[in-house]
Amino acid sequence: MKNRASTGSARTVEGGIPENQIVWLRRDLRMKDQPALYAAAQAGPVVPVFVLDDDRPRERQYGGAHRWWLHHSLESLSRSYGKRNGSIVLRQGDSVSVLASLADQVGAKAVHANRHYEPWWREAEEDLRDALPDGCELVLHDGNYLLPPGTARTGGGDPYKIYTPFSKAELELFPPRDELPEPETISQPSDMPDSDDLSDWDLLPTEPDWAGGLREFWNVGEAAAWDRLDWWKDHVDDYEDDRNLPSEDGSSKMSPHLHWGEISPISIWHTFKDKRSQGWKTFEKELIWRDYAQNIIMQFPDYPQESYRDYDEQVLWRNPNRGHLIEEDLKAWQQGRTGYPIVDAGMRQLWQTGWMHNRVRMIAASFLIKHLLIDWRHGERWFWDTLVDGDYASNGTNWQWVAGTGVDSNMFPRIMAPLSQSEKFAAEDYIREYVPELADLSDEDIHDPSEDVRPDDYPEMLIGHRQARERALEAYHDSKS
Ligand SMILES: Cc1cc2nc3c(=O)[nH]c(=O)nc-3n(C[C@H](O)[C@H](O)[C@H](O)COP(=O)(O)OP(=O)(O)OC[C@H]3O[C@@H](n4cnc5c(N)ncnc54)[C@H](O)[C@@H]3O)c2cc1C
Repeated sequence: MKNRASTGSARTVEGGIPENQIVWLRRDLRMKDQPALYAAAQAGPVVPVFVLDDDRPRERQYGGAHRWWLHHSLESLSRSYGKRNGSIVLRQGDSVSVLASLADQVGAKAVHANRHYEPWWREAEEDLRDALPDGCELVLHDGNYLLPPGTARTGGGDPYKIYTPFSKAELELFPPRDELPEPETISQPSDMPDSDDLSDWDLLPTEPDWAGGLREFWNVGEAAAWDRLDWWKDHVDDYEDDRNLPSEDGSSKMSPHLHWGEISPISIWHTFKDKRSQGWKTFEKELIWRDYAQNIIMQFPDYPQESYRDYDEQVLWRNPNRGHLIEEDLKAWQQGRTGYPIVDAGMRQLWQTGWMHNRVRMIAASFLIKHLLIDWRHGERWFWDTLVDGDYASNGTNWQWVAGTGVDSNMFPRIMAPLSQSEKFAAEDYIREYVPELADLSDEDIHDPSEDVRPDDYPEMLIGHRQARERALEAYHDSKS
């Protein structure tokens, strides 16, 4: 027999030729509740393929933090296949050409993939359908969301634009589908195609190696995602009380695991579905926010780079073409040197760990947009480059939500006050951790250090809150007139 199963037995069609199945891996780097893998494993010997594709996403290529996570996640997934005497195929290039050529090489009957909604992936899925050799079909599965985007619709049959009715509609449509087990048997052809060596992809930073903080903060991969979920089982009931407190470990920190598909939201939902606590109900709504963001980019593919609302943005934002020195302010924000301790702690947490607490993401984003009057797209890009969970849909949707430029009902003139937010959400220890030069200040002083207690190496505020607020409101009114 030409192809032989490496674990378990391969299914064969009449005449004994196995029906090889390619699984196209993207942000679904797991074995459990992996619909594409599950279907492929039932149909024949499986060739799992991950293509590092820097062509299709164009300016949305993976950032440095993404690449670091991806390296470790692929390493972990390869180990999982290895334990079953299997392997994954790594290739670099244009996904469509690579997959079409592999399908030809292994005589694949099907390419299985979980649907992705980033515009470049949707385009690639379309192109792949046409590029596959005769006799090989593309089979798309719903894998990464509680409900497939587009399921929840208004009475008129349109997808929702606003979060609250979207969330209500999803809750009414629940339960989500059943969780799929890891396939019992995954057979593979004996003559698997060649694979690149992961280390040749240079996904990890070397000179300088800035990833020390990430290594300390994260365990990557499917097993780590399940460990985190185990930990979260004892904490989810407290989520309602703790989630806004950056000094506490009060949220799940599952976002990169979810983003890379190391665990599915369906698995998480089924773990907690019988819980009645307010903590779980609020957590479930956050998972629905994740679905909502995909529902938005499904309707507006360019949303992460185009404001939805009609402002005169030439007037709204400070503009280098009109002599505004935004470069320096942008740099101070990126480096966590704005003089606002809560903002600086958040931005430094992001740089060190590739992650930022949700409440602080809102404060830091609002500060850039409204205190510094810098176009939200600069912030979105920085988060995209530095977050390990940087997600085209979730990042874009949240940036436009904070900016008040988006589809939802939040408005630009709602301006967050960073100093009161810092006090209200007891950020003292969080600031001490990430802004060590302020560590000796008292709880009273640390949110807004006055001149007589502020250490020499901590900067003055870039702009006072009241002045920033007035400037933002004026720009807003001018941009509407
Ligand atoms: C300006 C800004 C940018 C953001 N960019 C991203 C991003 O690129 N990727 C990302 O996953 N989240 C993003 N978020 C949402 C949120 O901050 C993170 O999902 C959350 O902080 C992750 O931590 P956690 O896993 O502990 O979340 P938890 O509070 O434990 O929530 C559970 C899960 O729900 C999802 N979730 C929670 N809040 C949101 C939300 N507002 N929108 C969408 N999904 C949500 C995440 O998958 C998260 O892991 C952004 C928020 C803001 C304000």
